[in-house]
Amino acid sequence: MSMSTSDFDHQHLWHPYASLPPTYPNIVIDHAEGIYIVTQDGTRLIDGMSSWWASVHGYNHPVLNAAMTHQLGKMAHVMFGGLTHQPAIDLGEKLLSIVPTGLDAIFYADSGSIAVEVALKMALQYQIAAKRPQKCQFASTHSGYYGDTWHAMSVCDPINGMHSLYGKQLPVQHFVPAPPLGFEHKLTQDVRDELTQFFAKHSAQLAGFIIEPVIQGAGGMRFYNPEYLQLLRQLCNAHDVLLITDEIATGFGRSGKLFACEHADISPDIMTVGKALTGGYMTFAATLCTRHIADTIHHSDYPALMHGPTFMGNPLACAVACASIDLILSYDIERRTAEMQAVMESQLAPAATLDGVKEVRCLGAVAVIELDEAVDMPVFQSLLIKNGIWVRPFGKLVYIMPPYVMTDDELVTLCQALLIVVTSYLNQTCATNRATI
Ligand SMILES: *Cc1c(COP(=O)(O)O)cnc(C)c1O
Repeated sequence: MSMSTSDFDHQHLWHPYASLPPTYPNIVIDHAEGIYIVTQDGTRLIDGMSSWWASVHGYNHPVLNAAMTHQLGKMAHVMFGGLTHQPAIDLGEKLLSIVPTGLDAIFYADSGSIAVEVALKMALQYQIAAKRPQKCQFASTHSGYYGDTWHAMSVCDPINGMHSLYGKQLPVQHFVPAPPLGFEHKLTQDVRDELTQFFAKHSAQLAGFIIEPVIQGAGGMRFYNPEYLQLLRQLCNAHDVLLITDEIATGFGRSGKLFACEHADISPDIMTVGKALTGGYMTFAATLCTRHIADTIHHSDYPALMHGPTFMGNPLACAVACASIDLILSYDIERRTAEMQAVMESQLAPAATLDGVKEVRCLGAVAVIELDEAVDMPVFQSLLIKNGIWVRPFGKLVYIMPPYVMTDDELVTLCQALLIVVTSYLNQTCATNRATI
């Protein structure tokens, strides 16, 4: 492996979901440019991850740099309590012009997890305001992921999520089985009945149902049929349960539509966005809701929405988010992601025939190679570096969500390198397995 590593990092810095010291070293990155991440010793890696769904325009983008630099000259930050500013207003107008119809009020949060916390608070305050205080719990499906803060964790997948570690301390929520796998697979009557019965049984306690529309991300990289969302929309309406869609991963084009809800032609009551919101430049997120929810909270005994982060509405983040949305709107995003899907589908198809691969699936600008066994990360990572690409598998899932600015040729290069990595990895680990028997 390229030895761009740091002793200080190894001893003192925690990384995501990692032990300290980590089981294998982190790679030191010097800079990133376009679709490349460059290590300290000068190795150029094609970025297959968009830094966890965020850097959709590639790195060091002149338009985004200019937007931030311009704002930096005016003010990096000012408190949002009692004050407002043009970048926050401009971003709000832009968001409301592109999100699913009906969403009309915005809360700026500082990260995705916080946007989810705010969404849950909003739903609770709404039900209290609507004189239904017994509706104070939440429901979700298995295999979901909503972030790492307390209540966000409580609605994550109860088995693969963090419940096993913190379970007894987390608020108790309700779960239905994960939506059946497969974007093309229409809902069976059994699934419809199951969800319908769940609402009949539990909706009296439910403030909201939270779900990642069409693509379940960190909980399993699963795609499901939009009919599921349509049925949820009907059931939520019928039982006074708010439908909360978490578009933090899927938003801004990733699923093949600007927002994944559009696949189902539905609007949620509350929606969260984050990750690609600032084109990967700043931590920033937002929670949006309908006028009805905002008005109901406003006309209650507690009209204030009780959240207010120090860096709420940060001007730098708002300015770069405005520029990022303009770029996305300039791409013809549905066509671009359809092209990316076609390239990834055809390039990665051969992986499906490999021994040790369970399935290859693509939707929009996301491609997943699901293996039979969890990846041995140090082995896999050294193969990635050797082949000049950056991908970060978790468990059995090897997946890519490349920046939209990648050309088709570059995408082919990424996919071919990934195919080589997966093939040599499986050969190598199968050989070791045989050797240890
Ligand atoms: C990443 C993610 C979050 C959490 O966002 P952070 O910014 O990491 O706190 C929440 N929901 C979904 C669907 C995500 O993919």
